[in-house]
Amino acid sequence: MKNKDLINISEKFGNPVYVYDAEKIISQFERLTKAFKTVKYLKLNYAAKALSNLSILRLMNSLGSGLDTVSIQEVQLGLMAGFKPENIIFTPNGVSLEEIEEASALGVRINIDNLSILEQFGNKHPDVPVCIRINPHVMAGGNSNISVGHIDSKFGISIHQIPHLLRIVELTQMKINGIHMHTGSDILDIEVFLYASEILFDTAKNFKDLEFIDFGSGFKVPYKEGDIETNIEELGEKLSGRFNTFCKEYGRELTLAFEPGKFLVSEAGYFLARVNVVKQTTSTVFASVDSGFNHLIRPMLYGASHQIENISNPKGRERYYSVVGYICETDTFGNNRRINEIREGDILCFKNAGAYCFTMASNYNSRYRPAEVLWHEGKASLIRKRETFDDLIKNQIDIKNLFMAKVESTEAK
Ligand SMILES: *Cc1c(COP(=O)(O)O)cnc(C)c1O
Repeated sequence: MKNKDLINISEKFGNPVYVYDAEKIISQFERLTKAFKTVKYLKLNYAAKALSNLSILRLMNSLGSGLDTVSIQEVQLGLMAGFKPENIIFTPNGVSLEEIEEASALGVRINIDNLSILEQFGNKHPDVPVCIRINPHVMAGGNSNISVGHIDSKFGISIHQIPHLLRIVELTQMKINGIHMHTGSDILDIEVFLYASEILFDTAKNFKDLEFIDFGSGFKVPYKEGDIETNIEELGEKLSGRFNTFCKEYGRELTLAFEPGKFLVSEAGYFLARVNVVKQTTSTVFASVDSGFNHLIRPMLYGASHQIENISNPKGRERYYSVVGYICETDTFGNNRRINEIREGDILCFKNAGAYCFTMASNYNSRYRPAEVLWHEGKASLIRKRETFDDLIKNQIDIKNLFMAKVESTEAK
């Protein structure tokens, strides 16, 4: 997208605002599909939690994507966006048996990640096939907050518990139609990923009724210059070859599934905020924008580094700024960043704002969540209105009568 388009959107829809470039989402989807072109049956299930606006889900559905969901509400959103139930997989962690049964009753695929619920579900619904989430205990990323394959992770059924798992399957007579892993958020090293895949193939041999093997996600995208990016083409070539060999050994063509979130939407997103104040202190120049970690929490939550550009003054002299928000707590977006000269009223653009940005937004400080705009074929469409005061209070029950008498007596004193 061009700066001019972003500025126009900011003028038309106000700030702060999230903007998503549909063409970038489409090209990422095509790139991933192409990387696995030698696999006969490939299924990409977009991870809804990255960006769950209905219009984005509709776009994904139109591309032939499936949907990976982690709550019954995401399942409902997916159905509302037109996904067929069989194209939705429910991959929750730590949810109740009732929630899994609710999803199953809607006809979506079920992925279970612990032995207790697996046994309970199998006893009650032996005819409903389920996928199992395996923890291969491989750490694919460096940051322990976002690597979920290691030994102390709460995710998945440990490969060391496969004998126990097999006993449950035998006793309940349930059908296992898929096996799944999601080792972490960052695939930095393809060899590590392939190593984890071997563990999955080994596990798969224990099950006779498989339809698919789901390799989760963790595709890393660059956030700033010099960042390592998962080499999708290399991964595609190596894993496809290995997968096709496995299918021959297994005796059936299985579906190779992935659940990319960040890879499909991160780079398609732009977050625009207006500079309220430029404040020079003894050592730092702060640029405060009309937003904060209530709208974009990743820098404070994960130390994520989102590139920040001054799209109102792209030719201005570069200076060092700390870009901060208006929340009454430390909410730094970026420390000592080189940015084209910032003036009050300028619009700053935060890059990689598609994944885990709007979906993590809150009303902290009683602020409204931003608007969302989809940019498609040169046209901007509003896909979510900015909230209003009514949204802040709509579920509150104001029990003023309870305190009225007290206020009156206090005032009487
Ligand atoms: C969050 C999640 C994903 C998506 O991860 P990305 O890093 O955004 O691609 C995939 N699968 C499961 C089970 C998840 O919880």
